[in-house]
Amino acid sequence: MQTKYNQLWDLDSVFPGGSESTELRGFIQETKEELIALEQSLQQLTELHKEQQKLIEIIENAQNAAAKVREIGAFVGCLTAQNMADKKAIQLSGTAKELSSLYQGVLTSIDEKILQLNEQELQAMIKEHFPDVAFYLNERAERAKDKLSPAEEKLAQKLSTSGYHAWADMYNALVNSMKITFEENGQTEELSVGQAENKLANNDRKVRVDAFEKWEKTWTENEDLFATTINHLAGFRLGLYEKRGWTNVLKEPLEINRMSEATLNAMWDTITKNKSRFMPYLEQKAKYLGLEKLAWYDVHAPIGSASSSIPYEEAAESIIDQFGKFSPKMAEFTKMAFEKDWVEAENRPGKRPGAFCTTLPASGETRVFMTYSGSASNVSTLAHELGHAYHAYVMRDMPNFAQSYAMNVAETASTFAELIVSDAAVQQAETDEEKLVLIESKLGRAIAFFMNIHARFLFETRFYEKRKEGLLSAQELNELMVEAQKEAYCDSLSEYHPHFWAAKQHFHITGVPFYNFPYTFGFLFSLGVYAHALEEGASFEDGYVELLRDTGSMNVEELAQKHLNVDLTKAEFWQKAIDLVVKDVDQFLELTK
Ligand SMILES: [Zn+2]
Repeated sequence: MQTKYNQLWDLDSVFPGGSESTELRGFIQETKEELIALEQSLQQLTELHKEQQKLIEIIENAQNAAAKVREIGAFVGCLTAQNMADKKAIQLSGTAKELSSLYQGVLTSIDEKILQLNEQELQAMIKEHFPDVAFYLNERAERAKDKLSPAEEKLAQKLSTSGYHAWADMYNALVNSMKITFEENGQTEELSVGQAENKLANNDRKVRVDAFEKWEKTWTENEDLFATTINHLAGFRLGLYEKRGWTNVLKEPLEINRMSEATLNAMWDTITKNKSRFMPYLEQKAKYLGLEKLAWYDVHAPIGSASSSIPYEEAAESIIDQFGKFSPKMAEFTKMAFEKDWVEAENRPGKRPGAFCTTLPASGETRVFMTYSGSASNVSTLAHELGHAYHAYVMRDMPNFAQSYAMNVAETASTFAELIVSDAAVQQAETDEEKLVLIESKLGRAIAFFMNIHARFLFETRFYEKRKEGLLSAQELNELMVEAQKEAYCDSLSEYHPHFWAAKQHFHITGVPFYNFPYTFGFLFSLGVYAHALEEGASFEDGYVELLRDTGSMNVEELAQKHLNVDLTKAEFWQKAIDLVVKDVDQFLELTK
């Protein structure tokens, strides 16, 4: 059907010909040569004090190379997502990984040189040549000082491919090989783990109960395998930390997210203090579903009947419209993204599940990927990813080292965009039932951030502390998990998920440790930004762009102080954000009276 906005994205304008592209291959070759040349010049730079100019050039060139490496990774990611059977694209993703590891090597060699400069020399160089990326370079220097010698770090990096990261690969391989037998309407099906997980969110409680029983059973049968992967993955991480003299397991994740432990504690403490205000929602939802208490698999069970399908065109127009009420610039950008075919939304088989936004820094463009089937949650996802795209877009002219922002603030622009659209949808809902479904889905997300993610955080911190003493058995891991879940959900559920530590991939991710609290931070931080936007009105727009542009150039405490005039280490900011969610609880209770 011919529509105003194409549902297929345009990748040919970046590199024509998809995974067959000769232009792409040329670009990869050129980038590889550049990286090798950079590494060579770094090795040849033996008299640093006489040849500082050379280091300056290398750092400048490394920024350009970074943009190209990211461009290739992003483009290949688009190819593998749009067609999972594209074998050439899969091969190319191996090449992209190699380039990325070459680039990491260059960065480590730059660290090595930076460490040879004394503080005065380093600051003089940054001041004169790199004022725009001062934060990034100082951060690198500080982190390098805190690590082992560059030679030892390079060895650790090398060994981690077949050690540390290999446990994550092993985890994925095991999960991919698992099958869960499921019976429905007299037919027996062999489901993949992902398919079985979808059954846990089924409308019908009987299906959920049955699916959860089989789910737990399967993980129980395999629990010793996963106790092995998680224990060794953690053991590698802790071993390296110990050699570096790091005693706090949160040191690395906090540094990656550029936040202090005081901020993290203020966030969780304020959430914990407010949990009783969310209990009425869980109790009411249980009643609504005809239950005394919710079980683990009921918390996110859908309620009400799904509302009518929203055509893609209409979703796009309404997103542009709603964004425009907060920021005409954001609306303008979004319109352009649709018109230039930066969005892949078609509902067809063979596409990767899920949604993402990816940045092509060398082209100064972005691409959004999802599968649009017309649900309200699809509209939220589309808005979410476009929020990410706008974030990257306002930073496109900045030097590459000033564009790297962490996961916790990455979710700010996206969640903000999603809030605009979901709030508008609630206001425009035509029936109470429609309104209820929308509010419930908003609350479900908040509960996930406040309770589910909290349980993951409690489990992970405790597990790493215990792991310092030795390996944990599957039984011990189960107990630790249930204890964390009971605490996070204030003992409000009738049944918990002991094998969540095995079933949730996030505990087995090695690229980023503690893949949990940044989500909750991003959600609440963007609520704070949203509250600020509502207060400021039209004058908010430019301040918002400035905030986004600073996300790669300061820590989160400075960012919040400078742009929102708030102190993240104090409860006040978090309380205000949580209060916004409590309003939804009140509305939910009103609608289900
Ligand atoms: Zn996101």
